[in-house]
Amino acid sequence: MSPQQAERLLEFDREHVWHPYAPMPATDPVQPVVSAAGTRLTLADGSELIDGMSSWWSAIHGYNHPKLNAAVTAQLGKMAHVMFGGLTHPPAVRLAEKLVELTPAPLTKVFFTDSGSVAVEVAIKMALQYWRSQGRPERHRLLTVRGGYHGDTFGDMAVCDPVNGMHHLFSDVLARHVFAPRPPGGYLDEPDEEYLAELKRLAAEHSGELAGIIVEPVVQGAGGMRFYAPEYLRALREIADEHGLLLVLDEIATGFGRTGEFWGCDHAEVVPDIMCVGKALTGGYMTLAATLCTDEVARVISTGEAQVLMHGPTFMANPLATAVAAASIDLLLSRDWHAEVDTIEAVLTAGLEGARELPGVADVRVLGGIGVIEAREPVDVAAVQEVVMEHGVWLRPFGRLIYTMPPYVSTEDDLEHIADAMYAAAVSLTED
Ligand SMILES: *Cc1c(COP(=O)(O)O)cnc(C)c1O
Repeated sequence: MSPQQAERLLEFDREHVWHPYAPMPATDPVQPVVSAAGTRLTLADGSELIDGMSSWWSAIHGYNHPKLNAAVTAQLGKMAHVMFGGLTHPPAVRLAEKLVELTPAPLTKVFFTDSGSVAVEVAIKMALQYWRSQGRPERHRLLTVRGGYHGDTFGDMAVCDPVNGMHHLFSDVLARHVFAPRPPGGYLDEPDEEYLAELKRLAAEHSGELAGIIVEPVVQGAGGMRFYAPEYLRALREIADEHGLLLVLDEIATGFGRTGEFWGCDHAEVVPDIMCVGKALTGGYMTLAATLCTDEVARVISTGEAQVLMHGPTFMANPLATAVAAASIDLLLSRDWHAEVDTIEAVLTAGLEGARELPGVADVRVLGGIGVIEAREPVDVAAVQEVVMEHGVWLRPFGRLIYTMPPYVSTEDDLEHIADAMYAAAVSLTED
């Protein structure tokens, strides 16, 4: 692409194309990407960046993967799409078989959606309908913890962190759920007895109006990139059982090995009643998500007054997306993903540790394929991006966080570059 073409593209983009969490027209710069392969993004001027984001947790195998390309191409030759109402097709059934096999045993029913946000909407709808079907419509609230992120639609926003999710903007239209404080401490910390007591107290106080509990297991992603002790997840399962609540786990960010276990809930050996998957499901190729539930949840919903789950996206179980998702899972299981994620954890742990001593840094933490430098103050996104791009790396910080979740196929050299770039960005925080 010529410099003039690139300039025209960026100009139109700035004035007309809305980007995530951005004003219009845009104030921050965006980079024009023309292709991507493996762990590299190629920009319009021909320069390459090492990808440290996996395109928001999704591109775990890197870009332009021959096996995934082949899966899309093969399906494209058969059909790109067909409605799912009254029809079914091999890639959807193949993928559902894999998800039933890979998720904890009680999860046997699969509802496909077109994005993670919608998967959470469906999970909430399932939980509420489960109680409505039993003549208990007053059980329509969810217990959750602060610091969570579950998507951007209105149902989801109501269970996101009230501050990050800007509940005050929409307080008159959002459903009012029950919020516990965010789980204190880190992954390895002993559980705090007072906090456990607070969880129990909240559940007991509201049990008559609660349908379920919803959390991200062990890692809170876009709400703050925090890791909490698996013991808290076990406690939430016990609390759910005590009050007959459904435990909904949002594994959209944590699923498919990112945290060092295949599912986030594997850290705690906890089994949910409803589980959402997305993001890495298609290896970053296409938008697809799914909500799984137990036989019991499905049975109650399907024998209640409505007798159906009232949801059905136009592009439900899209054949291209389900075909590439099935191929992505095969590819993941064909490699030693566990060793790959362990390598990411080891290299990031070693490479980021030094940042802990820097004056602008509040915390450094690494779990599985996730590395975080938390600054003391909100970071200037454009300034940090300039520093990391000078180091040949692509990152997208937010709030006080400079973080990475690289593709699993990253080499040690890629990972060292990413860690060096993050360190340099952390140094730059307190330079003028
Ligand atoms: C990204 C994310 C979502 C929303 O998924 P989209 O595909 O962006 O709609 C929901 N929950 C969690 C935990 C996520 O990380």
